[in-house]
Amino acid sequence: MFRELNLQQDNCVYVVEHDNQTIHFAAEELVRYLGVVSNCIITLKIVEKYDNRENGLWVGLSNDFLATTFTSSEQNPYDDEIMIDVSHGNGWVTGVNPRSVLLSVYRFLFELGCRWVRPGVDGEYLPHTDFRSFTINVQERASYRYRGICIEGAVGVEHITEMIDWMAKVGFNSYFIQFREAYHFFERWYSHLNNPHKSPTEDFDVESARTYVAAAKHEIQKRGMIYQAVGHGWTCAPFGIQGLSWEKWEEEIDPEIIPFFAQVNGKRELWEGIPINTELCYSKPEARSKMVKEIELYASLHPEVDLLHVWLSDGSNNQCECERCILETPSDLYIKLMNELDMALTNRGLGTRIVFLIYHELMWPPENERIVNPDRFVLQFAPITRTYRQSFASIGSVPDVPTFVRNKLDLPQAVEGNVSYLKAWGNHFQGDSFDFDYHFMWAHQKDPGYLQIAKVLYEDILHLEQLDLNGFVSCQVQRSFFPNGLPMSVMARTLWNKELSFSHMAEDYFISAYGRDGMACLEYAMKLSELYYELNLDQTSDRQEIDSKLLFSNVNSLIHQFETVIEKNSKQDNLCHASSWKYIKLHAGIWQELNHGLELLDGEDVVQAQRVWEDVKNSVWHIEDSCHQVFDVHNFVGVFDQVFSAKRFEGRMEG
Ligand SMILES: [Zn+2]
Repeated sequence: MFRELNLQQDNCVYVVEHDNQTIHFAAEELVRYLGVVSNCIITLKIVEKYDNRENGLWVGLSNDFLATTFTSSEQNPYDDEIMIDVSHGNGWVTGVNPRSVLLSVYRFLFELGCRWVRPGVDGEYLPHTDFRSFTINVQERASYRYRGICIEGAVGVEHITEMIDWMAKVGFNSYFIQFREAYHFFERWYSHLNNPHKSPTEDFDVESARTYVAAAKHEIQKRGMIYQAVGHGWTCAPFGIQGLSWEKWEEEIDPEIIPFFAQVNGKRELWEGIPINTELCYSKPEARSKMVKEIELYASLHPEVDLLHVWLSDGSNNQCECERCILETPSDLYIKLMNELDMALTNRGLGTRIVFLIYHELMWPPENERIVNPDRFVLQFAPITRTYRQSFASIGSVPDVPTFVRNKLDLPQAVEGNVSYLKAWGNHFQGDSFDFDYHFMWAHQKDPGYLQIAKVLYEDILHLEQLDLNGFVSCQVQRSFFPNGLPMSVMARTLWNKELSFSHMAEDYFISAYGRDGMACLEYAMKLSELYYELNLDQTSDRQEIDSKLLFSNVNSLIHQFETVIEKNSKQDNLCHASSWKYIKLHAGIWQELNHGLELLDGEDVVQAQRVWEDVKNSVWHIEDSCHQVFDVHNFVGVFDQVFSAKRFEGRMEG
């Protein structure tokens, strides 16, 4: 057992906290973890200012200890930078802002050997070590300003609060709660959509969703993270229509609002009955001013929102075809709206920053309008139609943006094609920006080892700088740590430091998560990813002639052989390692069966394949309780229902 440290004066953490909850929390976290790691009692002392006569660990803002050691001349409040200078239990753990102080504390613990391989207590790997035997010097500034995650998938409140907690531990700095209430994401979980074995939570409603959002906000604020909000819904809320989700609107529509809807094919109506997918007749000044008033009201009631997303509808090929709208591109009308919003916010003295979206029709830059006040805005590039089998690294020459033809959009899958729009926007807007991307929306489910998606993500992040993007916000299912959390860990670490090597991060992750046989797990996950990359469940045009029979059989033997390694590791003393092995075992069971179903599908035995898929679903529903923290069953079922759907299969046989 680890030797008990003596209770003496230098087991003390001093915090200069300036009444700031994040700095206070940072110091508490340091005390709590050091107590566990070094098996000792540490006293926390709150002090007014630094006193160099006191030995111990000092926590606070960098300028509490130093005059001007930091590299940045003009500090943007979103930019993180940390400095750790500790020797034998004495020194500073500091950052340039409260959030950076917290990140600095976690980094100090990382240097001691602590790892957080997934959200929740069972994702903590804590070594037993004497922190006083370490000398740690770190001075780093984050490679990218925006390092965030956006809520998607099916979520319970504890899934997001644990996610936010985990995010700060690994270096993220921002969380985005989509829609005002995030209702639909909670509804998927609490109503247990896509799992008929579970009954819906009875009293779940919009009010519960609001309570959960408040709980998430509390965790975001405690950590000083950048809070992003809303997105879609501004096109219907000003007209009294709640945009809670992508559901159809069943109530009556007030005839007075119909003239504001976009006119498509001669009709003004809700697009396919769905409010948030409906565009407006944006050339009407009154349509824009109603939106501006609504956004302004929201911003004034929510000063806690740092970045307010103002997006148009979530549909496409649904733009207004009236005689006035067709005279301008959707982006010109959008920028007009943005400038009017900026003026309204300025007049009201609101500094809320607005995120505008490059997506669908808005991929084409405006022809005449320009953003008047770039400091108000952040550009968000959202290439949702792109493939995740290719990364930003593979961009050769970027093609020209095709001519915009209203309501005849066909956006590219190739990464180059998507990037061409961003380049075109670069001539119109040189302000702050980030990539909003979807690696963990669907694509990750088709990569059972998670190594392939992790590599694409890694390369994407390395190349953000070349695309003039200052960060990344991942629009994703929250529970994407099954079978492992490697890609999520790679996302966090590479956004912080793009100089890190992929193989180094992968080895570190697998050893931390699985212990002794971690490298065997890495090799297994890598092979599984390689085999399924070749099998290509996306069935895109880049599919080569492959011996799929052999590949499926190789997957089968790979999993079968690895089961002996799993068996050998089934008893672990360490909770983190034990949980990692539990999850990889559950995953192997699912994929053994699923691989068989996919093989049948590939052999065109659709009926039998669908029968196997029904069995797989039943097994997954059965085990959901034991893996819901890391695995979004709702999303998994949705993705593979589509893979196994007869309609899709017919298309493939022709192709
Ligand atoms: Zn119109």
